[in-house]
Amino acid sequence: MIHKEIVIVGGGPAGLSAGIEAAKYGAEVLIIDENHLVGGQLFKQIHKFFGSREHKAGMRGFSIGRDLLEEINKSENIELWLNSEVIGINKEKELLVVPKDQGVVEIKAEKIILATGAIEKSIYFPGWDLPGVMGAGAAQTMMNVHRILPGKKVLMIGSGNVGVIISYQMIQGGAEVVGILEASSTLGGYGVHTAKVTRAGVPFYRPYTIKRAIGEDCVEGAEIVQIDSQWQPVEGTEVILEVDLICMATGFNPLTELAWMSGCQFTYIPELGGQVPTHNDRLETTVKGIYIAGDISGIEEASTAMEEGKLAGVHAAHSLGYLSKEKEKVERNKIWERLNDLRSGPMDIKRKNGKELMFLKYNEGCIND
Ligand SMILES: Cc1cc2nc3c(=O)[nH]c(=O)nc-3n(C[C@H](O)[C@H](O)[C@H](O)COP(=O)(O)OP(=O)(O)OC[C@H]3O[C@@H](n4cnc5c(N)ncnc54)[C@H](O)[C@@H]3O)c2cc1C
Repeated sequence: MIHKEIVIVGGGPAGLSAGIEAAKYGAEVLIIDENHLVGGQLFKQIHKFFGSREHKAGMRGFSIGRDLLEEINKSENIELWLNSEVIGINKEKELLVVPKDQGVVEIKAEKIILATGAIEKSIYFPGWDLPGVMGAGAAQTMMNVHRILPGKKVLMIGSGNVGVIISYQMIQGGAEVVGILEASSTLGGYGVHTAKVTRAGVPFYRPYTIKRAIGEDCVEGAEIVQIDSQWQPVEGTEVILEVDLICMATGFNPLTELAWMSGCQFTYIPELGGQVPTHNDRLETTVKGIYIAGDISGIEEASTAMEEGKLAGVHAAHSLGYLSKEKEKVERNKIWERLNDLRSGPMDIKRKNGKELMFLKYNEGCIND
């Protein structure tokens, strides 16, 4: 069995930032990611990021990923395993890893940081299992990573940032976006992204939902319907759209399988995306020495993921003796100041409340085993 000080699962903004931070204080870090590139969501984001300048707003997602990779490469304390999937983990902090084209490798870690990100939520309707119905993130991966346009006439379900950003990218990729459905009467995305698809002539249907996907062997169309304030279909408002791709941009849940497997306790907090590993304000879970950071600890953004990564990295390094108690406190306070800032906007207050509730639950009920 291989021994490592800190193993980080996931090389997205949270995992990379955690690694950079922990290594800065002298800890030895291994970052493992299943993809052939680091950056997680970042490497498929060709749009300019929103947020604050300090958190690289205005830069394209893949460039942020490239900057983080440069920092990783400069550090002698960070090892990176790509094309490697972590398939098992236990309370003793032993991991089973499958590097590409090799058998299973066993690793014993002193500390683990889970930064596995999120998984797309689906909605279910007649025909949802036809080829041609997929998550918007899956369509984005096909297009921006594998260079395959998954459809020519697209219906997007969901007008949040993910729905409008990926709609615009599909237009850039050569598809026609026939419409964007929104069940709420207000649109969910930031104005700058919504304006781009509006200027491109994409109609928004709201408050509308999908009634069924049409087609025998694959998607050939979609029937949509208006809904009332109780989210019930309004008879007579059905519209048939001719499409070959239906994308769902209907939110995310934290990707938590490894946390379940390791025996972490969970708390259900809808504002954070559902079932989330219970954690404290240092991002340590109820299993001592296992931390979480980024979307696995609550669905947010790359900026908060990077700060959370640093927080977990600082604390993991401190618990290995690389930073004094005083230094850890100073660094933790600085990161918390920035996190509070990032969570102060009108769209972020729900997540701030969700986090506060989480820390309360942790302190009420759980003592590290
Ligand atoms: C379309 C879209 C647009 C966005 N735009 C913005 C924006 O403009 N600004 C912004 O701040 N945020 C934006 N976000 C959100 C942002 O991308 C995420 O919040 C952020 O990437 C979360 O970082 P993370 O490190 O937690 O997870 P991720 O970036 O998802 O990284 C997790 C990594 O872990 C890997 N992994 C998971 N499980 C395993 C395993 N078992 N073994 C090995 N590897 C594993 C995954 O493959 C992935 O590479 C956007 C998201 C989307 C989908």
